[in-house]
Amino acid sequence: MISKKMQELVAGSSVIRAMFEEGKLMAQKYGVENVYDFSLGNPNTAPPDAIKEDIYDILKREEQIHGYMNNSGYEQTRNKIAAVTNAKYGLELSADNICMCVGAAGGLNIILKTILDPEDEVIVFAPFFGEYKHYISNFDGKIVVIPPNPPSFLPNFSALKASITPKTKAVIINTPNNPTGVIYDRATLTELANILEEKQQEMLSQIYLISDEPYREIVYNNVEVPNVLSFYKNTFIAYSYSKSLSLPGERIGYVISSSEMSDLKEVVAGLNVANRVLGFVNAPSLFQKLVERYVDFDADISLYKSNRDILYSHLKSLGFELNNPEGAFYLFPKALIEDDVEFCAEAKKFNLLLVPGSAFGCKGYFRIAYCVSAATVNNSLEAFAKLAKYYNDVVQ
Ligand code: PLP
Repeated sequence: MISKKMQELVAGSSVIRAMFEEGKLMAQKYGVENVYDFSLGNPNTAPPDAIKEDIYDILKREEQIHGYMNNSGYEQTRNKIAAVTNAKYGLELSADNICMCVGAAGGLNIILKTILDPEDEVIVFAPFFGEYKHYISNFDGKIVVIPPNPPSFLPNFSALKASITPKTKAVIINTPNNPTGVIYDRATLTELANILEEKQQEMLSQIYLISDEPYREIVYNNVEVPNVLSFYKNTFIAYSYSKSLSLPGERIGYVISSSEMSDLKEVVAGLNVANRVLGFVNAPSLFQKLVERYVDFDADISLYKSNRDILYSHLKSLGFELNNPEGAFYLFPKALIEDDVEFCAEAKKFNLLLVPGSAFGCKGYFRIAYCVSAATVNNSLEAFAKLAKYYNDVVQ
């Protein structure tokens, strides 16, 4: 008999994953070119051409690539990440600040394992990546959701202030954001940091800021993504190469802990032990060596940019309310009826696979993951037009 907690997890298993599976079945039934699957953030851009050669080269050169290692990962890889981050953002990190991890998901789990006691509260801003719920519950923490703040989808700071209690252990932000594409600018991060500093003093507690950043390089029109470490001392960054190098299956990323964190030594030791006791042990060794060669690499966002531009203007012309995202590869329009779940179910009749905003704690909206091929985008345009027409003609 599986555990009660797992029974609940299985029963409520991710809407996004379920839709992805359904998409595969629909593709078999209608033909892949006739199904417009915008459900999953699985990058369609190929990894850089040189990656295969790099992998062979590493295997040829490195004799001990397959062994166990320090739980935080190869020192040389961590040194390179620290050096490049320092040069980019004027910081003073060393290898000790970096812990290699199993994607951003692994990174968030080792952070939460390190800091949470049962019943500790973790604040998230809706809409948020639905997996946070599970990551927090993995360590018996309690999720506290700040309601969405449309149309900007920037954090609602008065709601944040009102939600912080002596039990607040962490606040998770995600910039560039999944699902809105919003990037937190300097003013936003400054205000956020000021509130957290004030509240730490008022509550005599320590509140960590966790910045989840798998989309750091997926940014349009050179909008700045400020480094959160420069704003607030008790900061973690969870980074991943899943999106920037299109390697989500390889499970490689890193956590940075701020040099100014008051308990840095304990935290670093905690992350290492968390990597071990959660059973990751260490991040994949071959891919640590690989990403060492790509720390200073510019992600290819050309496909995402043209997909974004086409879909944004098409949906606007059809009367959808939506923002033009500054980063990541998602659009988050308002649904044409209040019930986003029903709206996405209706969209399926036009072979459009969209994710209801409810999956991100934001009813009335839906997510389009446009990290798909240009053909999928172009072929889908008529289906979006039919969907809009259906609601204009039939429903109203
Ligand atoms: N955080 C956000 C906001 C994401 O969108 C994703 C994946 O889609 C993750 C974390 C997990 O990323 P990874 O594949 O690096 O574990």
